[in-house]
Amino acid sequence: MDDNDIRIAPHFSLREFQCPCCLTVRLQPELLSRLEALRGRWGPLRITSGYRCPRHNSEVGGVPRSRHMKGAAADVVVSRNRQELFCAVAREEGFESILPYRDRGFVHLAV
Ligand SMILES: [Zn+2]
Ligand SMILES: [Zn+2]
Repeated sequence: MDDNDIRIAPHFSLREFQCPCCLTVRLQPELLSRLEALRGRWGPLRITSGYRCPRHNSEVGGVPRSRHMKGAAADVVVSRNRQELFCAVAREEGFESILPYRDRGFVHLAV
């Protein structure tokens, strides 16, 4: 029952990145290190989607070549009124792709 309950960085555990349907996880080290740096500046980050297996990705309507399927993307909860600032900080921390979903209250970050 404790699959993936492993601390992999000061503020993240492997479980936070696992696919919710099958508990599989794939994670690019660069994504983790950038998230950890961002966390240091921003404060706690809640990840709602990390790795997605192909089946789960299509179930949630992800694009066919989603970086979530490579372990290179994470969706992070950010309230609507703080998304602009959050995206600016994420840009400074070197994320390659930063997509705010204002109405859904999260930001997609990818390396
Ligand atoms: Zn899955
Ligand atoms: Zn995403």
